[in-house]
Amino acid sequence: MDYAFDIARHDRAAHLRKDDAWRKGDQEIRVMVIGGEHVATHGGKGIRWIALDEAPDGQWLFLGIKDDVRYAAVMVDRVPNELEPVSLRTLGPSIAGDEASLAVHAVGIARWHQTHAHCAKCGEVTEAAEAGHVRICPACGTHHFPRTDPAVIMLITDGDDRALLGRQPIWPEGRFSTLAGFVEPGETLDDAVRREVMEEVGIKVGTVTYAGSQPWPFPSSLMLGFFGEALSTDITVDQNEIAEARWFTREEVTEMTAASELLLPPNVSISRWLLQTWHGGTIHGKWA
Ligand SMILES: [Zn+2]
Repeated sequence: MDYAFDIARHDRAAHLRKDDAWRKGDQEIRVMVIGGEHVATHGGKGIRWIALDEAPDGQWLFLGIKDDVRYAAVMVDRVPNELEPVSLRTLGPSIAGDEASLAVHAVGIARWHQTHAHCAKCGEVTEAAEAGHVRICPACGTHHFPRTDPAVIMLITDGDDRALLGRQPIWPEGRFSTLAGFVEPGETLDDAVRREVMEEVGIKVGTVTYAGSQPWPFPSSLMLGFFGEALSTDITVDQNEIAEARWFTREEVTEMTAASELLLPPNVSISRWLLQTWHGGTIHGKWA
């Protein structure tokens, strides 16, 4: 895997969401118990799958089909301690791709249910439908769908193929990453990349190329990764968002990470993958 949650591996089988169709038939059904971003596990290592009739009371969510098995989640306020709950942030990098695919789907929707119990139009308490994939207001009839907040994350390079990295004010000395920010309404993704880089470090960006995306449901982000070509090199840092920013050559990244003078994001992140893809060689270590 290139980074966590990189590929959807289950068939979401949306046609089975209506009228609890997913519960009918004789296919095996495996259930995940989930509370917010916490998932029931076996010893904190893999997801604990239970049978339909063993599941605690809660809101049902049908996830889909993988290898002729149907997968669902039951959402509870809090996963009981005896089911060994672990946050998907911790669990994600260590579980297999199939389980990560199911878990990231479940956590994204569970987080949305937790914070969208009321109708945004009239304030009434809404009811889940479509096997957990929509909430309907019984008073005004509005359908509310799970939200995803797009964020751009970009590796900017200059004419000498140096990479532009920044350090956030809350990070320790030496920790750097690619720049990132949320997409605003009415804005294309390319323009969001150019605006964020201009705001944060005062660099003008020309060509922007899409590289890949990573769902990050903590609570509802979709990280959209890009490479961008800088048209200028003089950095002016916006001190509110970035404490420090600079250009790095490949040799500097190789030597400084080996010497632990430069700490880059962990392998789980699309940020690290963008950096690795640009660098092409060995990058040492990661931040803790
Ligand atoms: Zn309403």
